[in-house]
Amino acid sequence: MKLEQIAKRFRIDNPNRFCLADHKPGECCGLSVEKAEAKSMLQDGITRLEELQEKLYASDRWSVLIVLQGMDAAGKDSLIKHVMSGVNPQGVEVHSFKQPSAEELQHDFLWRVGKRLPARGRIGIFNRSHYEDVLVVRVHPELLSGAKLPAGLDGRHIWRHRYDDIRSFERHLARSGTLILKFFLNVSHAEQRKRFLDRIELPAKRWKFSMNDVTERKLWRKYMRAYEDAIRETSRPEAPWYVLPADNKWFTRLVAAAALVEALDRLKLEYPRVQGRALAELKKAGKALQAERGGRR
Ligand code: AMP
Ligand code: MG
Repeated sequence: MKLEQIAKRFRIDNPNRFCLADHKPGECCGLSVEKAEAKSMLQDGITRLEELQEKLYASDRWSVLIVLQGMDAAGKDSLIKHVMSGVNPQGVEVHSFKQPSAEELQHDFLWRVGKRLPARGRIGIFNRSHYEDVLVVRVHPELLSGAKLPAGLDGRHIWRHRYDDIRSFERHLARSGTLILKFFLNVSHAEQRKRFLDRIELPAKRWKFSMNDVTERKLWRKYMRAYEDAIRETSRPEAPWYVLPADNKWFTRLVAAAALVEALDRLKLEYPRVQGRALAELKKAGKALQAERGGRR
């Protein structure tokens, strides 16, 4: 199986027909972490990503925005660590979005993400994102009062309006040269339980556990409905969602790397060409440096 095939398999190209129940969190496409094939595919993905990022940076035209969403313990942090392991840190920025601050609540919900968008040549990773405003806020509508919307703008149409605003926002970014990929880490209820228990048992992981995680776990079905709606409403060719099976971390990483490689390949990135006068000057500089060598040593 090729990386490109894997990437397409998990991309939501027909959002109207999207149904979360059709996506198995434990899917591995018949691959096994113990076998050489999966290992070499992942390594190949990471190496190709490294090269693509260099070209992205050098050509300085496109920016790449990666949105990561998923329930607690779905593996967002470790995905960033592993998939980006070969990439030059200078070209990547990660932003984690938590509960909005008092200042952020004084603005519209896209304000804080707008300030963190990647510049041309850069990769921006959103660890949670503007989608929280149609996920956690949808599951807890009482949070809306914090958003201080004027009366009449916080009614039952608010979710439809927010999806619409997100689609427009992302289309605008795409038209300005941002490649957008959105990853939903689809972890199962059972696997989340295992990972929470690990967090409680292992001293090195305890700091990650929050009592709030258990409260949110009880609202699992509501969250899944909110995710399903959000993906249906906002997966578009210019900003597609990928539903990554997240029960096996090695496979989540493989699909994420595959999706990035496939999407970046489509940009046909090239190093800037040095031509004409600039090339002549470069050659002149080269000759001068060569001439220097004998003299100095
Ligand atoms: P973590 O990612 O585990 O550090 O947790 C961050 C927390 O911030 C999660 O519980 C999110 O649901 C929450 N959060 C992020 N964005 C928002 C938002 N716009 N409104 C309310 N809660 C949010
Ligand atoms: Mg957490």
